Amino acid sequence: MQVFRIKALSDNYIFLLYDAEQNIAAVVDPAEAQPVLTKLDELKVELIAIFNTHHHYDHVGGNQKLIEKFPQLTVYGGISDKGRIPQQKVFLEDGDRINFGDGTGEVLFVPGHTRAHIAYYFPPQKSEEMGNLFCGDTLFAGGCGRLFEGTPAQMVNSLSKIRALPDNTRVWCAHEYTLKNLQFAMTVDSKNPELQQRYELVLAHRSRQEATVPSLLGVEKQTNPFLRWEQPALQLAANSNDSVQTFARLREMKDRF
Ligand code: ZN
Ligand code: FE
Repeated sequence: MQVFRIKALSDNYIFLLYDAEQNIAAVVDPAEAQPVLTKLDELKVELIAIFNTHHHYDHVGGNQKLIEKFPQLTVYGGISDKGRIPQQKVFLEDGDRINFGDGTGEVLFVPGHTRAHIAYYFPPQKSEEMGNLFCGDTLFAGGCGRLFEGTPAQMVNSLSKIRALPDNTRVWCAHEYTLKNLQFAMTVDSKNPELQQRYELVLAHRSRQEATVPSLLGVEKQTNPFLRWEQPALQLAANSNDSVQTFARLREMKDRF
């Protein structure tokens, strides 16, 4: 399975999954249809599935047009998004499996950003390969999604599921927010050498307009403050010794940043 990153709207990424052998494609969170259609044309491939992570417009905005173009395609989403995702046909729960080409993805229920948010994890097929995580607006490179419909406790639980995945996992998150996220991270975890290094690297990438997605989950575990709620430095910054409260306060601070 190959993954192509497609830019959409102002700062969204759409991901196209491509199986060259079977000549099929699927798309994760089509914010809009046109850039997806362009990529499909270029690859000369049929779209067979849309995998949605949650119902927000910048993730499902292209569903309708894509299904008009490919009426046989299947739209997947979380069970609690019933009625909120256009043309949804399959209603997924935590632990469900989905097939694409020769790969099998696992569904993680990760409420917090919305109450119905799911993520798709494709483990490596051979030991030297990397896994792929499509996590929508739950985990971002250097940050996490805002809590629109969920509680801090829910989000900590959701991010814990993600944190339990192998370090060698590519994190395909839905927005290019990395630089701003790391600017915030530097205000609460400035003595973290891995974070300092990453910040410099991302600064350089962004000054050349280069994408910072996908990131690596191992790097997120070392540098993302929203996966580090039990670290002393972050508990100090949040003035708490409780994990959920630390997470909640960091999230509030980021909301105002
Ligand atoms: Zn969203
Ligand atoms: Fe979004």
